[in-house]
Amino acid sequence: MAPQVMSTLLATYRSRHKVLGYPIDVVNEDSAISVVQAAWQNERGMHIVTLNAEMVVQAQKNAELDRIIRHAHLIIPDGSGVVWALKLAGQQSTRLPGIELARKTLEVACREGRRVALIGGKPEVMLALKAKLQEDFPGIKIVGAQDGYFSKDQEPEIVDEILSHEPELILVALGVPKQEYFIDKWQHSFTKAVMIGVGGSFDVWTGSVKRAPEVFQKCHLEWFYRLISEPWRAKRMMSSLPSFAFQVLGESLKDRSSKEKS
Ligand code: UDP
Repeated sequence: MAPQVMSTLLATYRSRHKVLGYPIDVVNEDSAISVVQAAWQNERGMHIVTLNAEMVVQAQKNAELDRIIRHAHLIIPDGSGVVWALKLAGQQSTRLPGIELARKTLEVACREGRRVALIGGKPEVMLALKAKLQEDFPGIKIVGAQDGYFSKDQEPEIVDEILSHEPELILVALGVPKQEYFIDKWQHSFTKAVMIGVGGSFDVWTGSVKRAPEVFQKCHLEWFYRLISEPWRAKRMMSSLPSFAFQVLGESLKDRSSKEKS
C-alpha cells in the first residue's frame, strides 16, 4: 500500500492535535483498535507511542526521542497531563492509558489469530507473563518472548529469531526511551508488525508491580500513586511535571492574549 493511502486510512480514525508542539492523536480505544486492525489487514507495520507529560519533557531535551515521537504513526494520550493540555487548548479528549490499549490489542490479536511477540521485563517476569497471557487469552499465538536484559551485541540475533516467526504485534517493555530506540531501530525489519512501547505493563500484568487503585485513576492521580509507591521516580517526575505544567499554562495564556488582540 502506498504511504499516502496509509495516511488517508489513519486520518479517518484519528484527529491529530499538538501539545507543546508534539503531535497527539485524539482517539479512544475503539478508534485506536480500528487503526491497528487496518494496519494488520493491509499488512503494514506501525509504531504506536503512548505519550505523557514526562515523555514530552524528556523529548524536549533528547533530539533522538523527539524525532522518534514525531515519526510515530499513532500517538495516544496516555497521561492526564496531556489530556489537560488538550482541554486548555479547547480540545476534548479522554485519557487512553497505553497499558489498556496494549491489553485490548492482545485480546483482538488473540481473536484474529495474529502472531504476538513480547520483548522486555526481567527474565522471571517474562516467564510469568507468557503463562499469564496464555491463561487470560486462551489460544493466543505467542511466537516470541524475550526478556529485556540483553546486550547490544545480542540484539541482532534476538531480532532475527523473532523475525523468523513474522509477528504481527510486538509489545516492547524496556522503559522510555529505550523501548522507543529499539522500535525505531527495528521497525523497518518488522514490516508487518504493530509495535507498541508499553513501559512497565508486563510488571503490572504479572502482579510484580501494582497499578494505581481505580480511585487514583478516576481522579487523574495515577502519576501521584506511582510517585508515592515508587519513590525512586520522584527526581525524574519532579523535574518534568512542573516544567510541563508551566509551559502548557504559558502557551495557553499566550494563545488567549493573541485571540483577544485579534
Ligand atoms: N526494562 C528492561 N530492560 C532494561 C531496562 C528496563 O526490560 O534494560 C524493563 C523493566 O524491567 C520494566 C520496564 O522496562 O519492566 C520499565 O518500566 P517503567 O515502569 O520504569 O517504564 P516507564 O516508566 O519508563 O514507562
